[in-house]
Amino acid sequence: MDYNFTEDQLGLKEMTRDFANKVLIPQAAEADRKGEFMADAFAEAAKMGITCLDLPEEWGGAGVDLLTTALVREELSRGDAGFSSAVGACGLGFKPINFAGTEAQKKAYADVVTGGGLLALGLTEPEAGSDVANNKTTAVKKGDKYILNGRKCFITNAPIADIITVFAITDKSAGAKGFSMFMVPKGTPGLSTGKHEDKMGIRTSMTSDVIMEDCEIPVENIIGQEGDGFKIVMQTLDKGRVCCGASALGIAQAAFENAMRYSQERIQKGKPICKHQIMQAKLADMGIRLEAARQLVWRASMAFDANAKDTSKLASMCKCFAGDMAVYVTCEALQVFGGYGYSREYPMEKLYRDAKITQIFEGTNEIQRTIIAGNLIKEYQI
Ligand SMILES: Cc1cc2nc3c(=O)[nH]c(=O)nc-3n(C[C@H](O)[C@H](O)[C@H](O)COP(=O)(O)OP(=O)(O)OC[C@H]3O[C@@H](n4cnc5c(N)ncnc54)[C@H](O)[C@@H]3O)c2cc1C
Repeated sequence: MDYNFTEDQLGLKEMTRDFANKVLIPQAAEADRKGEFMADAFAEAAKMGITCLDLPEEWGGAGVDLLTTALVREELSRGDAGFSSAVGACGLGFKPINFAGTEAQKKAYADVVTGGGLLALGLTEPEAGSDVANNKTTAVKKGDKYILNGRKCFITNAPIADIITVFAITDKSAGAKGFSMFMVPKGTPGLSTGKHEDKMGIRTSMTSDVIMEDCEIPVENIIGQEGDGFKIVMQTLDKGRVCCGASALGIAQAAFENAMRYSQERIQKGKPICKHQIMQAKLADMGIRLEAARQLVWRASMAFDANAKDTSKLASMCKCFAGDMAVYVTCEALQVFGGYGYSREYPMEKLYRDAKITQIFEGTNEIQRTIIAGNLIKEYQI
């Protein structure tokens, strides 16, 4: 299929690949070991305009469509998935503003992004992961302020974010219509973050709790209207899931490239291991799944860009399939390296650890399958 990529799309993809090769890959292994955010690389990426691809052009951003975003996220994740997650979290923090923000809010977020700052989305709570409706954080209106109380967990970029977009209850009795979204800037009295999560993978992204204790924000910081929160957050997650699929592609692509190279260099029984039939089956199976996932990510991106109807199902399909594919491909690619794949001196174990998160965050793959099945049952109702 010809996707008719424009010169701009291909140029941005190429520029990002170059950045990943020259800036991310050389420092990713050490940053991963130390669990450090690559701040200098982020500043450079911000200058290139790729740290929040959703930011519209009129606000100084790239303002690109979802297909272009997917191309860029794949390249960033090929370089380092933790770095790419930090970029992804900026996108998740901004999307609610794109859907429902005021001009003043757009400007505030744009100033952060163009100034090289970071955003975050605070949705998950200790008792509300897959069960979003069980969120407990409250936002109570008092005069010209909202007072926020609650605790979010596993929030990407939280310790370094300039603005956190927070999901909270404004009316307990209203069910799904009882949630709203808020813009909570760093430095707001009552806002703090918990300890940094020492994670298995994507260790170059910073993750922590967000704690709100009588955290006062002006009423103007509500995003959209009271009660709009659930709708906004679901729209945000749908698009985010396509980006998550694209990120899974990048991790798998990096593992695949390494496996293809190593399988031609490594000699066993007098010939390169890629000449052994069982190894060829492995390379072929990796190639097939990678290509299939890429088609699904691009197809889902284009459906969003064309405002198609079945985007939610496609977003879940693409996140789920690409996430499972990335875990499969990184595991098989590690196997191609034999004992060296298990060594920290080679990139394979990091890629395997990084891939695992794509089955967990932005809605676990079990939840994606629930969404997909629900849609299919409706479509094929007898
Ligand atoms: C590194 C990292 C970064 C993250 N970044 C962010 C972020 O920036 N912002 C944010 O808001 N959140 C973030 N999260 C949170 C993430 O989205 C949640 O961890 C995820 O949605 C799962 O929630 P949970 O961990 O509470 O697991 P649970 O919901 O407790 O799930 C546990 C297990 O039960 C299964 N399960 C749960 N409910 C069902 C069901 N109804 N049917 C079938 N199976 C079910 C799940 O699939 C899973 O296998 C991040 C998490 C991690 C680990």
